[in-house]
Amino acid sequence: MNDCLFCKIIDGEIPSKKVYENDFVYAFEDVDPQAPVHVLVVPKEHISGHDALKATDGELLKELHMAIQEIAKEQNLDNGYRVVINQGEEGGQTVNHLHFHLLGGKSLGWPPC
Ligand code: AMP
Ligand code: ZN
Repeated sequence: MNDCLFCKIIDGEIPSKKVYENDFVYAFEDVDPQAPVHVLVVPKEHISGHDALKATDGELLKELHMAIQEIAKEQNLDNGYRVVINQGEEGGQTVNHLHFHLLGGKSLGWPPC
């Protein structure tokens, strides 16, 4: 049984506010936004996190990054945006399905901690 929250969102078992979808990628609004635009961009295939990526995932990574570019354009993030992956406990990862945070719509602070 797959207990993954984001797999359930991709399957429509748990509702989400979809902003983008293609054969490989699903993107939806973060439920607890940290910026005016906060979208989670995820592979439809279950990959537990950045550490689980393989060298053979190059095509999938291309799809994810091209989707991020397209969403950023759709969301009018012409002045810039940030893409974040949290990996593991100290990286702040709370959902074990690879996801890119796409953040923007304001001037973002740095460093992030
Ligand atoms: P991370 O902490 O990097 O693993 O990111 C997980 C993100 O998922 C957090 O920003 C949460 O706010 C977000 N999140 C958790 N549950 C949901 C949900 N049901 N719908 C949308 N976003 C969610
Ligand atoms: Zn999953």
